[in-house]
Amino acid sequence: MSKIEELRISGQLPSPKGVALAIMEISRREDATLDEAARVVQTDPALSGRLLRLANAANGRGRSVVSINEAVLRQGMTTVRQLAMGFSLVDQYPQGLCTAFDYPGFWSHSLFMAVASQELGRVVRVGTPDDLFACGLLAQVGRLALATVYPADYTALLGGQDSGTALLELERERLGVDHVEFTAAIMADCGIPKSLAEPVNYHEAPERSGFAEGSRPYQLVHLFFQARRMADLGLSPEAGRHGSISELLLLGGKIGLNAEALGEVFDRVVQQWRDWAELLKVPASRLPSFDAMAKAPVPRSELEPRTACQRVLLVEDEPTTRIMTEAMLREILGCTVYTAENGKDALALALEVMPQIVITDWLMPVMDGLEFCRALRATDWGQSMYVIMLTGMETEEEVVEAFEAGTDDYLIKPVTMRGLNARMRAALHYVKLLEAWENDRAQLKQFAAELAISNRRLGNAAMTDVLTGLPHRRAGMEALSRDWSASKRTGQPVAALMIDVDLFKSINDRHGHAVGDQVLQEVARALQTAARQDDSISRIGGEEFLVVCHDTEARAALLAAERLRKMVKALKISIGGVDIPTSVSVGVAIRESGMETADDMMKAADKALYAAKHAGRNRVSLFVQGKTHCAGSQ
Ligand code: GH3
Ligand code: MG
Ligand code: MG
Ligand code: MG
Repeated sequence: MSKIEELRISGQLPSPKGVALAIMEISRREDATLDEAARVVQTDPALSGRLLRLANAANGRGRSVVSINEAVLRQGMTTVRQLAMGFSLVDQYPQGLCTAFDYPGFWSHSLFMAVASQELGRVVRVGTPDDLFACGLLAQVGRLALATVYPADYTALLGGQDSGTALLELERERLGVDHVEFTAAIMADCGIPKSLAEPVNYHEAPERSGFAEGSRPYQLVHLFFQARRMADLGLSPEAGRHGSISELLLLGGKIGLNAEALGEVFDRVVQQWRDWAELLKVPASRLPSFDAMAKAPVPRSELEPRTACQRVLLVEDEPTTRIMTEAMLREILGCTVYTAENGKDALALALEVMPQIVITDWLMPVMDGLEFCRALRATDWGQSMYVIMLTGMETEEEVVEAFEAGTDDYLIKPVTMRGLNARMRAALHYVKLLEAWENDRAQLKQFAAELAISNRRLGNAAMTDVLTGLPHRRAGMEALSRDWSASKRTGQPVAALMIDVDLFKSINDRHGHAVGDQVLQEVARALQTAARQDDSISRIGGEEFLVVCHDTEARAALLAAERLRKMVKALKISIGGVDIPTSVSVGVAIRESGMETADDMMKAADKALYAAKHAGRNRVSLFVQGKTHCAGSQ
């Protein structure tokens, strides 16, 4: 049993209570009516008010909905259930034991995401707004669940960070389960259909979903991702807003919202969020309009490069400069720093740690900066590193020499914080662009691979017959002419087997065309099973098939034909309780000295087939030297 299953059974997983539970039970019954649900909703004034609110929000400018019956009717059983569940959770967990978990903040964020999902849903039209509201509200509920089930452990784990993929890994490592799994379990309990729950589960890392671009689940994943980002902006402190705004503008562009339209959606979301927050007793701060936030000057703190995860290789032989520069990079700019004392050691270290940025001194023992830089640029993996040369010499010629060796920038010693910061900003900008470009390139690669696959599929489709999946006439003729040419070249024999279903017209007449089609499929499958691996088999007409056998003499061809005939005869085709006896006649011909082309062999096989039909069907006939010989098998 999984951990989640155990928790669910022991009742530890956050779950809806009271009226929500009653609604859930009603909705499980087959004979449940909406009236019944409405009556239960009415016993809970808070829930009634919230459902009415939502019904009116969805209603736009139409006549307002005043009765619970009508609200329930409008929203339908599924939606009412989802919402009742969501609200029940908000009411039950306003606070909790996990001290590092911000419960009110969590609900405030979830509520923002709910409204944002709903409003984005109106733009993208991939789901009903009420459903999307419920999904947004529960999209992160697994985190609440972890805080509830493991209050102490989760407090220890949270210590500082509360989002991102690192959190997921930490959860799995320490608790053996992560919040995404919990979210999925609770959403299932709340009756959210898989078609919505699955996209929700990928919204933290849309690139991992693997959904086909443009498909409904793909659009949903991105909708929730964007709603999440909106909520992040809604709850972020003033100083942290700028980055979120740029990202939202970018995301908005992808669904056809320009800055103005996005701003309108965002402001509408904020308005509703605040109304909802009041209703649910959840905090919601006042926000300036989107436009005002976008135009606000960028705070200084966001202009500073964010370097947290950059690897820098610092190469310097002189200890004081090395230690000081290292300290600035590490302590002030937050980089991960690796150091070496000469070019030779640095080259080995660079290969090992793959820094994004290299800062190297010029004059060093063993291998100097210029040589190191040239060596780095001569490798495949060293091309894209950003190299900054430290230098005490500043004549133009020398600087040119450094650039020619492949450095991207230089910094005059002694190294100062101001100088280093300026250089690093450019370097980080470059690293960021490079990463974006590499992402694009990875995506392009994937597109190319997908394209190749679908082309191949198209190619196959173009060569196969839709009904039976066998190669069609043209493909069959190509195979024939290939084998014919090979036979002429090598002198090996080749045989053609022309197969025709007996009295097929009467099967159609008696049972209908659709049954006739099924019979054709069965026959095709039987022929395919009975044919040898390297025989090429195709459907060359309505109920006619061709098998080309290379390196096969008359006797072997006859045996093969006989095997095919028997296989079909032995088929037990029964459709709708009616047995349909089926047989084929086979005409066999082999390449003979008098034949000029593959077509001559086909004509010979055709003659043999005609003879087989004439002799009573369900038999094999061989054409040799202008004569047909029927086998007497029945
Ligand atoms: P025989 O034993 O002499 O071959 O008799 P037959 O009835 O099989 O011969 P005929 O050529 O008169 O009839 C072939 C029938 O196959 C006629 C056509 O309507 C039917 N047919 C051709 N293609 C298809 C198909 O794709 N699906 C179905 N259900 N019938 C098809
Ligand atoms: Mg030096
Ligand atoms: Mg026919
Ligand atoms: Mg026929």
